[in-house]
Amino acid sequence: MDHLWQLIAESYTGYFNYLRSEILVPSWHNYFYWLVALSVGVWLLEIIFPWRKEQAALRKDFWLDGFYMFFNFFLFSLIGYNAISNVAVDLFNQFLGQFGLENIVAIKLDTWPYWSQLLLMFVIADFIQWNVHRLLHMSPRLWEFHKVHHSVGEMGFAAHLRFHWMETVIYKTLQYIPLAMIGFGIQDFFIIHIISVAIGHLNHANLKITYGPLKYVLNNPVMHLWHHAYHLPAGRYGVNFGISLSLWDYLFRTAYVPTDTGTEKLGFEGMEQFPTSFQGQLVFPFRKKKSPAQAQHLSNKVTSPL
Ligand SMILES: [Zn+2]
Ligand SMILES: [Zn+2]
Repeated sequence: MDHLWQLIAESYTGYFNYLRSEILVPSWHNYFYWLVALSVGVWLLEIIFPWRKEQAALRKDFWLDGFYMFFNFFLFSLIGYNAISNVAVDLFNQFLGQFGLENIVAIKLDTWPYWSQLLLMFVIADFIQWNVHRLLHMSPRLWEFHKVHHSVGEMGFAAHLRFHWMETVIYKTLQYIPLAMIGFGIQDFFIIHIISVAIGHLNHANLKITYGPLKYVLNNPVMHLWHHAYHLPAGRYGVNFGISLSLWDYLFRTAYVPTDTGTEKLGFEGMEQFPTSFQGQLVFPFRKKKSPAQAQHLSNKVTSPL
């Protein structure tokens, strides 16, 4: 048990030192400055070539989404995720040790060329995330968390990282085992993360880009705006679930891009009652909600003369 406490303490101090050096020592291998540079770059493109010309450069929720961006990318890890995940991985490895196993690697790719390993990791992780994203829409319980991301009324690049911290836990937990089963020879997937951030920023940007014929492979702002549409096609729980790649939506027939006017109303039914502050959105999914039947019952009580 002491060992686990020590791991938690080391996770905090280790991550704190990492974050401090990220900010104080700029380098090419630095998430903080890449995030700042990509954000400024995509924001400038939005200002120079806006798709929805009437949308302000400092659109509604710009600062809230900017805060989410740094919270989800840096602070949440500092507050707890790093410690929780280190403990979980340690317990998982101890569990494997009970069976005399050191890891769960089923396929070894360590002899593959560097770039092909990176590409495969990118494609596999993206496919897992596409499935997790569908799950966030299908499961009523998980949808309560995912509503935060869909509560954007005006779309811009910073909405990319506007999501509830539980999403990080859900995505990372569900992709841990499948990815741990592949024995990559490289540890450093920094470049994949940076490319994913760039594509994700562009997907949410106020830019009319579709990448021509590459739209069948790469997710893009026109396609992803429809993912955020208030009105869904009848009988569908969602469309365009792609994260970086649109390929999965075309392969599994969840792609839907009827027009490219960019004027579609965004959000979800009942968004008018959704909290607008960071703190409100943080606790919203954990609050007990009345079922429609209960709510009806209560309103009957209030209005009924009996
Ligand atoms: Zn979604
Ligand atoms: Zn989105």
